[in-house]
Amino acid sequence: MRIVLASGNKGKIKEIKAYCDDSEVVAYSDLIAPFEIVEDGDTYQANALIKAQTIFDSLKEKEENFVVLSDDSGITVPALGNIPGIYSARYAGKGATDKENLYKLIDTLKEKGIHRTPAYYTAAMAIVTNQGAFTVHGWMHGEVIAEASGEGGFGYDPMFIPEGYSETLGDLDKEIKQTFSHRTKALRLAKLVLESL
Ligand code: IMP
Repeated sequence: MRIVLASGNKGKIKEIKAYCDDSEVVAYSDLIAPFEIVEDGDTYQANALIKAQTIFDSLKEKEENFVVLSDDSGITVPALGNIPGIYSARYAGKGATDKENLYKLIDTLKEKGIHRTPAYYTAAMAIVTNQGAFTVHGWMHGEVIAEASGEGGFGYDPMFIPEGYSETLGDLDKEIKQTFSHRTKALRLAKLVLESL
């Protein structure tokens, strides 16, 4: 069974493909022209469902034996009032790049005089199939620092130090992130759902 990813985010696609290397995984944009999906839910779960259902509906007439998997994720900094949360992708404005979002969060910490503070990533995944829709979640806890270090990972990774480590995800090998990330934890559960269909 083919797993179609309802995402255009290259960082996410790479990580999901690496984790699901025993399955056929394709980005939806390899099957149809990419289009904008309005993510107007007020939770990660709602937005993950919107993305997966929209792509499933767009493909169901032309594809067979497939499921759609989506990931809606972001980072939360409690000391800043739980921002950027579900707005992580557009924290520096609609269409902002990963770098712009990263440096906006760094600047916000600096403005508040915070050098280091707890933070966590959340990933909600939706699996939409012809048997219905399912959702799962995963979390990764750690701290954010008011600077960027390392080129690894994507998004906010250069400012995120996972619990139990002293370097950022930008500095650490990608294999390390893959052992305990929010995405990996959600994917473990998503695989259980897929295996039980
Ligand atoms: P989405 O594509 O609307 O779910 O947006 C996800 C946002 O959260 C993007 O800005 C990502 O950069 C950020 N994000 C999600 N997961 C990660 C991660 O594993 N590392 C770094 N940033 C992430």
